[in-house]
Amino acid sequence: MQINVSQQLKAAIGSVRNYDVDEAADIAGSASRVQGEVKLMRTHRSILVKGTLHTESEVTCSRCLSLFSYPLTLNIEEEYFPIADIVSGASLHLPEEPGCFLIDEHHVLDLTEAIQQYALLVAPMKPLCREDCAGLCPNCGHNLNQEPCHCLPQQTTIAGLS
Ligand SMILES: [Zn+2]
Ligand SMILES: [Zn+2]
Repeated sequence: MQINVSQQLKAAIGSVRNYDVDEAADIAGSASRVQGEVKLMRTHRSILVKGTLHTESEVTCSRCLSLFSYPLTLNIEEEYFPIADIVSGASLHLPEEPGCFLIDEHHVLDLTEAIQQYALLVAPMKPLCREDCAGLCPNCGHNLNQEPCHCLPQQTTIAGLS
């Protein structure tokens, strides 16, 4: 997810470039396609990246423990600071904020880390494979979405309440 921004670093403050994203990235441990469009805006000290990206994450259903892919919408807004001056190559003073994103000495801006961080932020805490997921039988552990198990209904209810 690397974008060379050398041209834009030379451009006037306020100049905007649209960039189409359609690449694979490692989202929460699995390779996922990331699609969308971001705007890159030259500010007096940085490149501001803004846009909406769509991807998905492999998550585990909190009721039945099956794996499924969950769609994620990432509303990215991040500033990327060049570490070197585009004209002179001199090192630039960087903001004090810890963890701010940088544009490397080859004038490459890498969106991957921001995408991964945003994906973590919007990933569901207790995902469900579907609204009415039946979950696992508390007695035998069978996935009740597939078929009912052979446990007696009363037993299942009692175990489920305890
Ligand atoms: Zn489920
Ligand atoms: Zn059962």
